[in-house]
Amino acid sequence: MNSSIILVVNAGSSSLKFSVFRVDDAGNLQLVVRGQMDGIGTRPCLKARNSTGTMLVESDFTISEVATVGDAISLVGTWLRERLQHESLLAVGHRVVHGGTQFSSPVLINTEIHTMLEQLIPLAPLHQPHNLAAIRAIREKQPQVPQVACFDTAFHRAHPQIADLYALPWEYYESGVRRYGFHGLSYEYITTMLPKIAPKIADGRVIVAHLGNGASLCALQAGKSVDSTMGFSPLDGVPMGTRPGALDPGVLLHLTNQCGLSSAELEKLLYQESGLLGLSGISNDMRILLESHESRAELAVEYFVHYTVKQIGALAAVLGGVDGMVFTAGIGEHSPVIRERILQACAWLGVSIDAAANVRGGPCISSADSRVSVWVIPTNEELMIARHTLALINHGKGGGQVE
Ligand code: AMP
Repeated sequence: MNSSIILVVNAGSSSLKFSVFRVDDAGNLQLVVRGQMDGIGTRPCLKARNSTGTMLVESDFTISEVATVGDAISLVGTWLRERLQHESLLAVGHRVVHGGTQFSSPVLINTEIHTMLEQLIPLAPLHQPHNLAAIRAIREKQPQVPQVACFDTAFHRAHPQIADLYALPWEYYESGVRRYGFHGLSYEYITTMLPKIAPKIADGRVIVAHLGNGASLCALQAGKSVDSTMGFSPLDGVPMGTRPGALDPGVLLHLTNQCGLSSAELEKLLYQESGLLGLSGISNDMRILLESHESRAELAVEYFVHYTVKQIGALAAVLGGVDGMVFTAGIGEHSPVIRERILQACAWLGVSIDAAANVRGGPCISSADSRVSVWVIPTNEELMIARHTLALINHGKGGGQVE
């Protein structure tokens, strides 16, 4: 019997991540396949696993076969069709980095919406074009398949105006220079899990630490984002694998005016060469730094912990106190050492850690007498996208919600 599937796509400059979810009769979503095409335009390689982690494919391709995101979509589409012959594709959900001020929720894509999303390219020139290239490639091949855009920024659109502003002349705010915030799909997923896993804090003041290769924190009040550490771009806030986190803008003036860095060099420095990698000179991978005995590796880890704690303090002040904390993403989910170091420095907030539960990975890692309860909750941005996509096509909301 035919069943229906939803394809979730996250297209970047050199990689295309994808997941397939089967929709059962009750409308539940089950992961079927997860994979990615890496090295688009350089050393293309397709890998995919089934829901239990068994490798289904690991194949290299030539640059001429996979030169662009569109080629990657074609190839992945062909591979999926061969594997999932008896399934019918209901819709495709895309992770789209920027929804600007217009989109505060996911949207079914049509020509008008696509044009609006293109107009947001200047706000996210490194990501948005690739997200849109994937949408275009699918529309050209299968125009009848509904496609949904789910935004990294949308979850933060409800934050108060004070959290949206920079103290620049007003015309910059009007022209879109605002604190958008990112990782919104991850935070939204966590808010859907809180009532099930930690109901006592779900309606309270919660700081979520999404600590992965990209990292940010979000202050939640009753499940709504009131502030976050990323702002206009995904560079601000806590230190990351290759991005510096908060940086005095005077440093940028110095780098351009005195050191002569071009804007392309600056971009490379800020997105690819800074953060844990830049400080350690060894790696952007926290696991490697934690195993290393090099002093700069230790310093990079200390910097990561120190500035994450500092930003937790800032968000705690915004919330006027904290009822709960959540760790998620690669480092947040898998590193008891980093969680412990961060939490020990948060003792002043009323955090007391349960060391054994922390080593086990939770879900609750605070002690029974801790004033603030602390949780480890694995994020699932792909599932969040699949849920939104299914909800939109079920409700047939053509054009979606535009503010
Ligand atoms: P993400 O971007 O969420 O996939 O997170 C990726 C990052 O998580 C990697 O770069 C690692 O630094 C980090 N990570 C994954 N597993 C561990 C671990 N067991 N201990 C420390 N860091 C980890």
